[in-house]
Amino acid sequence: MSDNTPAPRSSDAEVARPAETGAPPARRASWLPGPGQGFGVTFATMFKKVTTEEYPDVPKVTKPRYHGRHVLNRHPDGLEKCVGCELCAWACPADAIYVEGGDNTDEARFSPGERYGAVYQINYLRCIFCGLCIEACPTRSLTMSNDFELADDNRQDLIFTKEQLMAPLLPGMEAPPHPMRLGDDEKDYYLRDPRPGSAAEPLTEERA
Ligand code: SF4
Ligand code: SF4
Repeated sequence: MSDNTPAPRSSDAEVARPAETGAPPARRASWLPGPGQGFGVTFATMFKKVTTEEYPDVPKVTKPRYHGRHVLNRHPDGLEKCVGCELCAWACPADAIYVEGGDNTDEARFSPGERYGAVYQINYLRCIFCGLCIEACPTRSLTMSNDFELADDNRQDLIFTKEQLMAPLLPGMEAPPHPMRLGDDEKDYYLRDPRPGSAAEPLTEERA
C-alpha cells in the first residue's frame, strides 16, 4: 500500500452504523419494556419548564446591544451624518459595504461636511454582523439596531440601499437637501443643541 494513502479519520469509525458492521443495535439496559421506557421520557418531560419560543406570534426581545440591521443616522436638523469617507467599507471583513461619496454644494447640501454618501449599500448576504464598520465610522453615522428580521426569498432584496438604511425623519427634522440649520459654520453647527430646555438656541420655525 502506498504511503500516501490517507489514514482513516476517527470520526469515520464513529459514524459506522450497525447495519454496516453487522452488529445488532445497542439496547438500553432496563427492567422496563420498551414502550414503558418511551412513555417514561414523555412523562418526565411534561413536568419540565417549557423552553419553546412562540416566534413570530410572540416577538423575540433581543439584548440591548444586539447587532442587528444597520441605520444611517441624521443630525437634529435632518442632514445626514454620513460624509462618504468609505472607512466603514474598508473596515468590513466581508466586503459587504459599497459607498460612493459625492460633493455637497450650496444648492444641494445633504450633510454638514464637504462630502456626503451619494450611494450607500449593505449586502446582507455577506454581512456577518461583526460591528467593525460602526467602530470605524468617524461621525457615528453608522450604527446597528436590534432588528434581526432580515430573511427574504430572493438575493436582490437583501442588498439594502441608502434609502432603506436612513433613519426616519423625527419631528423638527427636514428632508435633505437643505442648508445647515443649526449654525453657520461647522463648529457652531456641531455645538448647538436644539433639544428643548438646552442652553443652546433651539431649532425654531423661522430658521427651519
Ligand atoms: S457588521 Fe461586519 S460584516 Fe457587516 S457590514 Fe459591518 S463590518 Fe461588514
Ligand atoms: S457611514 Fe461612516 S464610515 Fe461609512 S462612509 Fe459614512 S461617514 Fe464614512
